[in-house]
Amino acid sequence: MLKNALNTDIENIYNNQINFFSQQKTLPIKYRREVLKKLLFSIRENEKKIHAALYNDLRKSGFESLTTETILVEKEIKKMIKMLPVWSRAKRVSSSLLNFPSRDFIVPEPYGNVLIITPWNYPFQLAMTPLVGAVAAGNTVVLKPSESSENTSLIVSEIINSVFDSSHVSVIQGDASVASTLLKKRWDYIFYTGSTAVGKIVAKAAAENLTPTTLELGGKSPCIIDETVPIKKTAKRIVWSKYINCGQTCIAPDYLVVQKNIKSILVNNLINEIKSAFGKNPINSPDYGRIIHKKHFDKLKLSLKNQKILYGGIQDEKQLYFGPTLVDEPPNESILMQEEIFGPILPIISFDSENQMHQIFKGREKPLAFYIFSNKKRFVNNVFKRYSFGGGVANDAIVHFANDNLPFGGVGNSGMGEYHGKYSFKIFSHYKPIVKRSFLFDLPQRYAPYPKSLSFLKFLINRL
Ligand code: NAD
Repeated sequence: MLKNALNTDIENIYNNQINFFSQQKTLPIKYRREVLKKLLFSIRENEKKIHAALYNDLRKSGFESLTTETILVEKEIKKMIKMLPVWSRAKRVSSSLLNFPSRDFIVPEPYGNVLIITPWNYPFQLAMTPLVGAVAAGNTVVLKPSESSENTSLIVSEIINSVFDSSHVSVIQGDASVASTLLKKRWDYIFYTGSTAVGKIVAKAAAENLTPTTLELGGKSPCIIDETVPIKKTAKRIVWSKYINCGQTCIAPDYLVVQKNIKSILVNNLINEIKSAFGKNPINSPDYGRIIHKKHFDKLKLSLKNQKILYGGIQDEKQLYFGPTLVDEPPNESILMQEEIFGPILPIISFDSENQMHQIFKGREKPLAFYIFSNKKRFVNNVFKRYSFGGGVANDAIVHFANDNLPFGGVGNSGMGEYHGKYSFKIFSHYKPIVKRSFLFDLPQRYAPYPKSLSFLKFLINRL
């Protein structure tokens, strides 16, 4: 078990970081790029250790660890190193004639001291990606990784300690009580990834100091499938996106909403794809992960109670193994349809008419992702237009995460704010408008005593 950081250590790190930032040490772009290069080097050097930690925490395969954790972080760092000189530059904008003559700029500045709190499901990537953005934008960072993925949290801290001055970036280990201690302090920015329930606690704590926050939360991401799709390919993509990391992916399809006339053939195809990906006994597959801890395992087990299992449902508590499971038409009021599943259980709900389909989404919170498999362009566009969600994909799932040109984040209950690539630099920067006036000219009417007739002023303003 990870030991909770001592309050005195937290206090020292916090004060040192405030001091470090106030000395403007994080401002030079050269310095930021240098530390990011060191970080990239260290991640490459430690790749085996990182993958071993991910295996120990979640039994992630080397392939998953590479493609969904380390490569994404490396890509993000490389992009920051390359684009930092451009993104951090003051941008000249056209001036207002009212201020003539002037030169106007937008200058990105770091917020200052940033707190980042992260979860266990992609414990390396979800800790490092926001950290990279915060450092690139010139902030200091305290990172509190998840206590549930302790092996990865330890290697994250080892890497950070070897690369950064602790007054610049520090990892503070511990559970919710440590997170609460940290949240009592005043930060310039808070970035939180995790459940919606804890997101609300974070938002309340941040509000005490009017601290801006990004909240990357969860929710129930639906996946619609209509009769026009190639079924085998659709099933393959759904099985991959649902069962990667044993379903513990914030943007995994949470439940399927399928046109009734293709339901049974889709179910057969899903079962075939599960078998072809993980074999008849996924417990023996090197590519099938495990549930993070017993508490989450028990929650998943409970959610299957009284449900009609179409396939799977096999569990081995000792190994925290929960097999790929398909559930037929769970009632709307059941746990499966009310709470985010965040595991390898996939409910399948059918609809006859489009109208019936829309009823399924009625009254639901805005999800983190929305997927639709269909060859009918107008249907796809209408659905995307009608619903609000964090991010959407047509004819595939979860792949939007991989494009760092797209902002990633939720809306409503699934979060606020977005990051990745340029969006990360943006959220961790305050864009400061600066107007540089000259002493050459003044509009005389601007000073009291003001002109009695406003017509000249209106004429002027209307022409600006
Ligand atoms: P978790 O239990 O690891 O908690 C996340 C972090 O919050 C941890 O560091 C934990 O110590 C801290 N925490 C827990 N209770 C707290 C409290 N009372 N006060 C302050 N901090 C506290 O992870 P989790 O919450 O189980 O994560 C799963 C959730 O995260 C799911 O809902 C999932 O959808 C969501 N998620 C979202 C994203 C995203 O990018 N939007 C990514 C991954 C996970």
